[in-house]
Amino acid sequence: MDYSKVLAAAGLDEIARAADGNEQNDRLQVRTPIDGSLIAALDQHSVADVEQMIATANEAFDAWRRVPGPRRGELVRLIGEELREHKDELGALVSLECGKILQEGLGEVQEMIDICDFAVGLSRQLYGLTIASERPGHTMREVWHPMGVCGIITAFNFPVAPWCWNAALALVCGDPVLWKPSEKTPLTALATQRLVERAMTRFGDAPEGLSQVVIGTADVGEVIASSRDVAVVSATGSTRMGEQVGTVVASRFGRCVLELGGNNAMIVAPSADREMALRAIVFSAVGTAGQRCTSLRRLIVHEDIRDDLVDRLRAVYADLPIGDPLDEGVLVGPLIDERAYDQMQSALDRARADGGEVTGGERVLADRHADAWYVRPAIVELDAPTDIVRAETFAPILYVLPYRDLDEAIAMHNDVPQGLSSCIFTTDVREAETFLSAVGSDCGIANVNIGPSGAEIGGAFGGEKDTGGGRESGSDAWKAYMRRQTITVNYSRELPLAQGIRFEI
Ligand code: NAD
Repeated sequence: MDYSKVLAAAGLDEIARAADGNEQNDRLQVRTPIDGSLIAALDQHSVADVEQMIATANEAFDAWRRVPGPRRGELVRLIGEELREHKDELGALVSLECGKILQEGLGEVQEMIDICDFAVGLSRQLYGLTIASERPGHTMREVWHPMGVCGIITAFNFPVAPWCWNAALALVCGDPVLWKPSEKTPLTALATQRLVERAMTRFGDAPEGLSQVVIGTADVGEVIASSRDVAVVSATGSTRMGEQVGTVVASRFGRCVLELGGNNAMIVAPSADREMALRAIVFSAVGTAGQRCTSLRRLIVHEDIRDDLVDRLRAVYADLPIGDPLDEGVLVGPLIDERAYDQMQSALDRARADGGEVTGGERVLADRHADAWYVRPAIVELDAPTDIVRAETFAPILYVLPYRDLDEAIAMHNDVPQGLSSCIFTTDVREAETFLSAVGSDCGIANVNIGPSGAEIGGAFGGEKDTGGGRESGSDAWKAYMRRQTITVNYSRELPLAQGIRFEI
């Protein structure tokens, strides 16, 4: 199909023309998961290019850190305006490039707008502290200064929003941004960068190199991770990538924000509103074709209500509208590529070998789209979790596991390497509060009567254990992009030492 109109509407006219069946092997080939067709072939940056971009970003840092925070906020306000104006076009491009349905593509752009609004307010609230000094005639305070260049490495499944969670905060905090998008979704990054450039032109005096995009694979990501001239590296992706990037950044004492894989669960208690739970389960398990870091992967359901809930789920799954994510009414788009499909099938084979009863999971629409990978989301019933349940398979597989009492459910819930998002459906306040307490969910996000996916930007987003420990977006996540300075001023005529130490000369 000809997708050049979607590309052109997002401002990528040149790319739309060049994509005309132009397969050049040395270029980065971008395919849409909708039908597997080639939509662009891009020049890739070399290691030397990236080093030069890092140097330019550092020059921009020298200028940008001198700009007052509220004025930096004005640039982010303008970026938000551009995003508002071009939400439809960018949302459609998100759908085209990563395969999520248009509603979710638009939702992703809305998230960018929301975090811009948040960051504009924040630009006047980069608050420090005043601290009581133990010495007479002394004051103490804590201030936050810009940190330096922020490298942002992103994953294919949320091609633009995580950039903005980082970039909107980093820019108001005084840090230039250097973005390495997934090699599977560079077009949305280029389209976003065009909007940023328009905002920068309107802003007037933003330094060159304040926001740049690096096109390439993991190799160029490694250049960013290993450079001592990149002060903060925020990396979103698989736990495997996080192990590599985290180790490299730690070895040079850089600062890292890691947003890695999840294995999110829902506990459904006997008192739950089952109709509400059903809707939440379906949205969070099959939305984005199970390719969200916060997708629901494990349903831990009380044994008394398991059969009823699974029957209802099976009925909904059997009728799910699967197809072109740009078509209205479709709820499940394609997997990103054949590899994702193979990984899903291999996980289902392992679950069957473990005694799991599998419903769905088969390939669909293969006759219409031989080069695209659509599947019916799968439900897998198991008596107890096995190793495959503890792994994140980035596809729509929902493992259903029975429990008898809440302690057992919480233990099962926490018995995975990942710790991103979690939830419980219950109308029993004791159960809800136990789940949220120190002996409850061990995840970064814990919800009651809400599915695990679809977080708002006002809270800090991220998770523990193999999810990497990073926090982005709201709350005080901005502190990751600034350096803390503890300041003590002596305005007396004496020089008393702390802790009362005497040192006479
Ligand atoms: P991926 O790990 O394959 O790639 C992510 C990014 O890292 C890409 O830009 C890739 O080029 C880059 N990269 C890979 N190896 C690198 C290295 N050694 N050095 C530097 N850069 C490197 O992930 P993916 O398949 O694009 O995305 C899916 C994964 O991302 C899932 O595990 C999902 O849970 C996770 N994810 C997490 C969050 C979160 O906020 N926690 C959000 C979205 C996705």
